Amino acid sequence: RLEIRNIRRFFEGRAVVDDVSLRVLPGQVTCLLGPSGCGKSTTLRMVAGVEMQDEGEIYVDGKLICDTVFRVPPERREIGLMFQDFALFPHLSVGDNVAFGLKGPKEQKRARARELLDRVALAQYIDDYPHQLSGGEQQRVALARALAPSPKIMLMDEPFSGLDNRLRDGIRDETLSLLKEEDTAVLLVTHEPEEAMRMADEIALMRDGRIVQQGAPYNVYTRPVDKAAVAFFSDVN
Ligand code: ATP
Ligand code: MG
Repeated sequence: RLEIRNIRRFFEGRAVVDDVSLRVLPGQVTCLLGPSGCGKSTTLRMVAGVEMQDEGEIYVDGKLICDTVFRVPPERREIGLMFQDFALFPHLSVGDNVAFGLKGPKEQKRARARELLDRVALAQYIDDYPHQLSGGEQQRVALARALAPSPKIMLMDEPFSGLDNRLRDGIRDETLSLLKEEDTAVLLVTHEPEEAMRMADEIALMRDGRIVQQGAPYNVYTRPVDKAAVAFFSDVN
């Protein structure tokens, strides 16, 4: 369970993330949805621990992972990351990519990598290299890699935007079912209303650093908070 309480982040005197609070439960997808520049990635980076907030606290399973003075380092947060530009390592085999963040003896890591690759139906590529796989397959390897250490929390920043339309829906569904099976709490960032409608249990609509509306996708879609929200959703059908 992820809990973000009243976080703020200032750049050059401007609050790019402004009093954001969010809760994500295990097995649930909360979608941070909003236009370019509204502060989505900055929010995610603070949860990942690669950037520090100026105000507020973040908790995982009720345990403080950071406030403005205390900070658990990123690698000890048990948080999985899947970013669009968070590519596979080209010089490592598919299996070694998946095993990359794991600890323990080599055989054990390889067994875990195989298990995860099996889940995304790519076990036969374990000794191949990323460039030998299609974009969609690489994305599934990235998912396997992110899930290998069994993170309680998964942060995803536009993970599907590099994929062509034909592949995207299938991979979205597959990713979703895998995350649900693992009971992972997912915070998904997107600027596409359609993706949020498809994947989220809860949508947090963000604008100018603030969450302006929050609720079940159907409610957010059918009862937009203002004209700007109507306009933002107007390309969903
Ligand atoms: P997109 O959908 O385009 O990815 P976003 O919602 O993820 O946008 P952020 O990347 O969080 O937006 O950026 C929010 C705002 O903060 C932007 O106006 C950006 O220019 C600014 N910003 C982000 N990082 C920095 C930084 N290191 N220094 C100064 N300004 C920054
Ligand atoms: Mg972003």
